[in-house]
Amino acid sequence: MSISQLARSIKESPTLRLNETAALLREKGEPVIHLGGGEPKSRAPIDAIINCTALLNTGEVRYTPADGIPALKKAIIRYTDEHYSKVVSPDNVIVSNGAKQSIMVALISILEPKEEVIFPAPYWVSYPEMVKLAGGVPVMITPEDGTFQPTVKEIADTVGSYTKAIIINSPNNPSGVMYSEEFISEIVSFCEKKNLWLIMDDTYNRLIYDGRTPTNCYKYAHKHLDSSRLIVTNCVSKMYAMTGFRIGWAVGNKEVIEAMSNIQGQQTSGPSAPAQWAAVGALNGIQSSIESLRMTLQNNRNVLVDRLNAFPGIHVTKPDGTFYTFPDFSAYMKDSQKLSRFLLDKVRVVVVPGADFGMEGRVRISFCGTIKDITEGMERIKWALDPDSPNELYLGERKLVRDWV
Ligand code: PMP
Repeated sequence: MSISQLARSIKESPTLRLNETAALLREKGEPVIHLGGGEPKSRAPIDAIINCTALLNTGEVRYTPADGIPALKKAIIRYTDEHYSKVVSPDNVIVSNGAKQSIMVALISILEPKEEVIFPAPYWVSYPEMVKLAGGVPVMITPEDGTFQPTVKEIADTVGSYTKAIIINSPNNPSGVMYSEEFISEIVSFCEKKNLWLIMDDTYNRLIYDGRTPTNCYKYAHKHLDSSRLIVTNCVSKMYAMTGFRIGWAVGNKEVIEAMSNIQGQQTSGPSAPAQWAAVGALNGIQSSIESLRMTLQNNRNVLVDRLNAFPGIHVTKPDGTFYTFPDFSAYMKDSQKLSRFLLDKVRVVVVPGADFGMEGRVRISFCGTIKDITEGMERIKWALDPDSPNELYLGERKLVRDWV
């Protein structure tokens, strides 16, 4: 079959694939525990639902402007003012089908063929594929000191004549680590000095723990927004538990936002109208759901990290934010794809291979599920891997017997 070279170079999203596998196994009655997920289990805020149903009840659901409805842009402008102390205008904002599309159209807007985009490992699984889809070349850097904290020097050493942009995601999916204020301030200055685009993916910046405050990249930007190459992306997906609504946005200079809107207009048109009205409700409504989600996640994190720390040979960095941990399992199995398949086959626990995030020997274990899933999932993982485990484990009625070493 004549499938294009570009299409053949794009990998299937490993997280979406695992969701499908888990759903298929569950349909067959298998007792799957999904610790690979990327979405909170809480309900969308009531104001989102009210707004969305109000539009549906009119029965008149139409196309919207390609860059989003004015009411949602207004809510995003207010959000940006409140959380970043940055006043922007509607021309600086685009609403997309999730932060994913905002990042995608940003990359298409700024990259010439073969230009490079640098991002630190571990990285969100989609960055390399998105860069390739936009005709660019992904360049990953791995922090040399074995931590999850990159340095500007490491990035600067990788910058060459083809480098066009840098993507920074803090707190980070999958490590959960927040990059230091110092790093953010230096990278913003570095990109301004070198005239590089800087995409700040702030998807998780409200889901942070232990009294941390979100980092505000604008604090370190000296250029006026409209002559700046800083693009900030965010979404309602995670902080409001609204992944299925598919609403995200980007804030950037007017020229790039116009280019992104033109591309989006040809690609998908404006995002779905009911979803945009839901996002207006979420952003303008009562904000207590974020705090209660944050508290639940912080508690889940503590439980998961305690379990991981009690696991001999496993190293884990306590996440500052997000709902992911990225522990090192290389003492048990170095190949993360094999490990993840082994855990699914033997004990029906889903985790995501570290290789997909650019780091071997690790898997991503989420803590956005229930405490019961976390504790039971970890029990099963320990039983499967620890040679000192008892020979048998019961999953409900089903008896599992260890027939491996
Ligand atoms: N950036 C990061 C780091 C993410 O983890 C995700 C979602 N997994 C996104 C962007 C995209 O979010 P959305 O669902 O709004 O497209």
